[in-house]
Amino acid sequence: MKHINDEKINKLINAPQCSREEFDLIIEKAKKLQRLTTEESAKLLNIKDKNLTDIIFRTAEDVKNTIYGKRVVLFVPLYISNICANDCIYCSFCKTNKTTIRKKLSIDEIKEQTRILLERGHKRILLVAAEEANEDSNINYYVDAVKAVYSVSVGTNRIKRVNFNCAPLSIENFKKLKASGIGTFQIFQETYHDATYRKLHRSGPKTDPDNRLDAIDRAFKAGIDDVGIGPLYGLYNYKFETLAMFEHIAYLEKEFGLGPHTISVPRLEPTYGSEFIQDKENIIPDEEFKKMVAVIRLSVPYTGIIMSTRESAHMRNELLNLGVSQISAESRVSPGGYERSDDHNAIPNVQFMLSDQRTIEEVIADLVKFGYIPSFCAACYRKERTGKVFMSIAKPGNIKEKCTINALITFKEYIEDFGNEELKKQGGILIEKKMAELNEYDREVVNHFFENIRKGNRDEFI
Ligand code: SAM
Repeated sequence: MKHINDEKINKLINAPQCSREEFDLIIEKAKKLQRLTTEESAKLLNIKDKNLTDIIFRTAEDVKNTIYGKRVVLFVPLYISNICANDCIYCSFCKTNKTTIRKKLSIDEIKEQTRILLERGHKRILLVAAEEANEDSNINYYVDAVKAVYSVSVGTNRIKRVNFNCAPLSIENFKKLKASGIGTFQIFQETYHDATYRKLHRSGPKTDPDNRLDAIDRAFKAGIDDVGIGPLYGLYNYKFETLAMFEHIAYLEKEFGLGPHTISVPRLEPTYGSEFIQDKENIIPDEEFKKMVAVIRLSVPYTGIIMSTRESAHMRNELLNLGVSQISAESRVSPGGYERSDDHNAIPNVQFMLSDQRTIEEVIADLVKFGYIPSFCAACYRKERTGKVFMSIAKPGNIKEKCTINALITFKEYIEDFGNEELKKQGGILIEKKMAELNEYDREVVNHFFENIRKGNRDEFI
C-alpha cells in the first residue's frame, strides 16, 4: 500500500523492549507535547513492563488535559443508507448479505431523524452512508442530506456541526461536500495491510486500498482541512495498524503540512449474516487496547481521539482517562434507527452490534461523575479555526481555554433545556468546581454567558 513500508513496520514490531533511558527520553518529549516518530511510538507500543505502562497511561492523561482540558465532546451517528455496492466481508451492509433489508432514507426521513435527535439534546451529528456504484448520485444525496440536517430546528435548538463518514470521492465531489457545510470528512482505512485489505474487500468500488488512502489527499486538495482517519481494529495485527497509521499521518504532515483532525479507534464488532470469522490472533486484549490508545495520544498529541459505542460503557469510561476526547452517545447503526427506543441489538438491519447502549442522559451522568464536562461545542468549525489554524492554536496547548469555556456554556444550556433534577444538582456542582479552577477573567466571561442563558439566549460561544 502507498506510503506504508511493511518491512520497516514489522521490524519495529518485533524489536525488543527499549532501555529505561530511551523510554524516559520519549516520555519527556511527549510531555512537551511534541509529535513522536513512528520509531519512538513503536518503542512505547512494545513496552510490557507494568510500571512503565502506568507511566504511559498517566502521561497520556496529562497530555490530553493539557491540550483539551477536562471536557469530552459528544456526537451521535445518523445512518442514512445501507444500500451498498461493496462486499466488505466483515460488515452487515455488504452487498452479498441477503438478510439485510435495504433502506435509503428520504430527505423527509432524514429531517425526522434529526428532529428526534434534537429533542434528546444532541447538537453534533455524524452522517454515515453506504456506497452505491454511481459516485455522482452518491454526492448529490450526501449534499442534500447535510442540508436537510442543518435545516431542522426544534425550539431554539439546531444541529451545529455535521460530520460525514462516507466513501472516497473525486476532488470535484469533495468540493461539493465541503460547500454543503460539513465539518469533518471521516474515512477509515479499515486495514493498512495491503494483502489483508484486498482479501476482505471482495468486490465493488472499495477494492483498491490506494484509492481509499488517497481520499484524504483529495479531501485536502478540495479544501476540506478537518479529516478523520483510523483503522478498523481487529482485521489485522493492531501494532501494525497503529504504526502504519502513524506513517500515513507522517506522509500527510510532510505533503500538506497538516495531519488528521481526529483519529478513531473502532474495534470490530459481531455482525448479522456475515460469514466473516475473525482471526483470533487479531483480537486485541483490553489492556493492550488501552495502551494503544494512550500511545496514539502521546504520538499525535494535538489530534482528537474518538471512541464510539462499539466499546462497552466500562471501557469507554476507562479510556477517557487515557486520551479520548470525543464520544458518541445512544447510537443506532441502522438507517432510521432512532424511531425505536427498544434494545438496539434487537433492531433488524443494524450494521454491527453495539456494546454501550446507555442513553445520552446516562452517558452525561457518567461523565459528570468522573469529573468531565460534557461538551456540545462546535465553535472552532464555526469560527473557521480548522485545519492549520486549529493546529497552530492546539499544538502549543492554547485551545484548552476555549474548549473549557465553550464546554461550560454548552453543558449549562443542556442542563437548562434537557437536564433532570439529579443532573441539575450534580451538573451544578461540577460547573462550580470547574469555574473555581478558571482565572478571574475567564470566570467573568463564563458568568456573562450563563446570564444570557438564563435570559433565554442559546448557542453562544467564543
Ligand atoms: N461507505 C462508507 C465508507 O466507504 O467508508 C461507510 C462505510 S461503513 C457504513 C462505516 C464504517 O463502519 C466502516 O468504515 C468500518 O470501519 C465500520 N465497520 C464495518 N463493519 C464493522 C463491524 N463489524 N464492526 C465495527 N465496525 C464496522
